[in-house]
Amino acid sequence: MSSYQKFLQVGLALDPVHVGTGGTRLGRVDLTIVRDPVTQLPKIPGSSLAGVYRAYVAMHYEEQRSPNFPNRNKPFYPDCAGLGLDEEHGHCRQPDCPVCTVFGFARGAGREGGFAGLAAFTDANVLLFPVPTRRGPMWVTSPMSLEMIGLKISGVSDNAVYLESNTENKLNLGWLLLDTERCTQMEAIRNFLNQLSIPDYILNHLAIVPDRLLAHIVNSNLEVRTSVSINPETGAAEEKALFSYEALPRGAVLYWGVIAKNPQHFSINGQNITAVSNPNGVYDVVKQAHAFFPYLGVGGMGTRGMGRIQVLYENTPISETTANCASENPSTNSENFSTEEGNNEQSS
Ligand SMILES: [Zn+2]
Repeated sequence: MSSYQKFLQVGLALDPVHVGTGGTRLGRVDLTIVRDPVTQLPKIPGSSLAGVYRAYVAMHYEEQRSPNFPNRNKPFYPDCAGLGLDEEHGHCRQPDCPVCTVFGFARGAGREGGFAGLAAFTDANVLLFPVPTRRGPMWVTSPMSLEMIGLKISGVSDNAVYLESNTENKLNLGWLLLDTERCTQMEAIRNFLNQLSIPDYILNHLAIVPDRLLAHIVNSNLEVRTSVSINPETGAAEEKALFSYEALPRGAVLYWGVIAKNPQHFSINGQNITAVSNPNGVYDVVKQAHAFFPYLGVGGMGTRGMGRIQVLYENTPISETTANCASENPSTNSENFSTEEGNNEQSS
């Protein structure tokens, strides 16, 4: 049996999502979000996702605890969630605990016997980013973003926005006015993305730009909100407490990966892991968190109406596909589907 299996998640931001850098930066915004150091695109770090997943999975098992785990005294939530270093109320560290085996546990500084966990999380990156245009909202992406989910696009080279039809010569993406070009295979691209359950109102408004333009467009169309601290005694705004923060806007489509390791290759204190038996079982535990994402959300400012995410797709990645935006020949059909991965059967 394989040592690991990869799973792809695609999610839609139902609210603006703010995952902060934890510090401030010089510039017009006080609380900035995390960016990839190379592409400068905003992202949600995998470490943030892992913590959110752990908490929600622990909540799920706590809700199931009495009927499904009759002999268990220790609560999954909050004990097996969080950092869990406290001996009394920390992680249970048992090989039959779905939370501690899948997400790992620590013993505390200088103590042996920690476990790294069977699931690993990649960063969540932007796949489709909504931008205001004269034609209404358009969802912008680039070849590099699409390639990360298995769709290889060629023919996007000019400093232009590639659309299904270029009836106008120019289109604004936010403040940036670009020449338009026609992407001849937008239908093939839409069909690929449709397999990820991305809604039609997004797929009917796709705009593709070269990789070098995407970060400019995304970073100049983030949501920036201003808040103020209220003094609880006076009920008035605290002086000098005005602050602004940026967020991925509602409607942004993100993707992230979960790598599930094979539990049979690991043991905890010499004992076999019994909570899960294979990589699919690990992923079955992980995806219990998805039901909480549309309500409890990820990231900061949750009480300010931010962070809710709807998971649209949870499964193994789709087989790789290619499309050429500059080619009139509709070559993207079954013969171009690579079946190397070939494991996109629907589970659950
Ligand atoms: Zn536990």
